[in-house]
Amino acid sequence: MSTCKFCGSSQLVPFSAEERMFGLGTEFTYSECQECYSLQLEDIPQDLAKYYSGEYYSFTGLTYSASLKNIIKQLRMKVFLTSGWKVFQPSYGAWLLKLNLSYSDRIADVGCGNGQLLYELSVSGFKDLHGFDPFMEQTKQINSALKLWKKSIEEAEMKFDVIMMHQISFEHMEDPALKS
Ligand SMILES: [Zn+2]
Repeated sequence: MSTCKFCGSSQLVPFSAEERMFGLGTEFTYSECQECYSLQLEDIPQDLAKYYSGEYYSFTGLTYSASLKNIIKQLRMKVFLTSGWKVFQPSYGAWLLKLNLSYSDRIADVGCGNGQLLYELSVSGFKDLHGFDPFMEQTKQINSALKLWKKSIEEAEMKFDVIMMHQISFEHMEDPALKS
């Protein structure tokens, strides 16, 4: 790579780093752009799957909640969305209020990991939820409201009202600007 993928600058400073999460010992060369300070991987491996295996932190099991607890979660969401009262705000975010969602909105989560956030939304009353991650084990229907797809968002043949990305998924995308 001779120019920055993002801003086109030629001021790239390369350095190498070893894969440590799984201890595979692979060395990767990264470049830091001196203009926009973005970090980019020089040669993206053909097969990324082994770096996102079952032990990857985001693929640990989904925690299901009992039906009584789900009734409480539904009530809490309803009160929160209508009143905006902070005491009812779910731990995962005030952003829900700002989006002014309706329960039937189709929501996608890019890089959904085990799907826990979407699961919480599903038991709180949202009805059309889709998680995307090309590295999950398999496509799974979690409940009537939630499906986790083993594919990337670019491969989805659906339109969404909301597309969310949490815990920074940009650095995991081969083409973050979605130019292709
Ligand atoms: Zn740059």
